[in-house]
Amino acid sequence: MKNNFLENNYKWINWVTVIDSWKKWKNIWIFAVTHWNEPVWIEIFKYLLEDFNLKNKILWWKIFLISVNIKWYKRYLESWEKNSFRFIDDNMNRISNQKFKKNSYEFWRFKELKNIFNEIDFAIDLHSVSKWDDLIWITDEKFLQNWKNFFDTDTILVDKIWDTWALIWEFIRTWKESYWLECWNHLWNQSFKNGKKNILNFLIYKKFICWKINLRKNINIFSFIEEIIPKSKNFKFFQNYRWFTEIKKWEKYWVDWNFNYLNNYWDNIFLWMASKKINYPDWCGFLFKKIF
Ligand SMILES: [Zn+2]
Repeated sequence: MKNNFLENNYKWINWVTVIDSWKKWKNIWIFAVTHWNEPVWIEIFKYLLEDFNLKNKILWWKIFLISVNIKWYKRYLESWEKNSFRFIDDNMNRISNQKFKKNSYEFWRFKELKNIFNEIDFAIDLHSVSKWDDLIWITDEKFLQNWKNFFDTDTILVDKIWDTWALIWEFIRTWKESYWLECWNHLWNQSFKNGKKNILNFLIYKKFICWKINLRKNINIFSFIEEIIPKSKNFKFFQNYRWFTEIKKWEKYWVDWNFNYLNNYWDNIFLWMASKKINYPDWCGFLFKKIF
């Protein structure tokens, strides 16, 4: 294994770095670059291999560092419009459960990686976002009870990942303990620190390494209610909502097709990722209820 995770391969599959304790039992996938414009992973992988020296600290089992989608990574690095480089043909996070498209690079890469899916017991997918707000773990409701063991974030989202086409779904649907980490803004150094701390916590919790775990006390846990899908091009939110805005019961929060929508749920709810630009008929926000 070279220290450069951009040059390693495993069973002829490129960009896969394996750190092996040679004491076999369980394996974890830490995978990143599902989207190219989220460069935080590079710092995190580098840190784990070079500064933290994972190779010498691993006690049990095997850790896979997977760079999911970096075929034209150089193009991304040289580009001025980095946010337009999220994937080549298809969004890697909408690929599970879909029919194989033979001309799509991402479908080809997905198929290649699928060859080693069955070697994996736990999976974490690393992401970052374009906004400046919460640090979030996302998981399926079946793994929520584990949050006290390793989460060091402001927020946890419990989603029905079971119903999505996200890459992490591949593991969730086979009952493998899996999580998705949004480490904060793409380009901010704090994202690297957030990601690194949470990944180490997980590795300690699962006994891949022995270290001290840092946990946060005040964590908000939200559970997914629904995706907001505009019914017309005239959709508009009443305010410039930030992430996780509380919407009071009976409060009006958007207008669509000249009809005002109000919160007629049982209680106050939370609006997340309200889009400024509406891409009708694509989603433009998500609704959550607070459960903790
Ligand atoms: Zn992403």
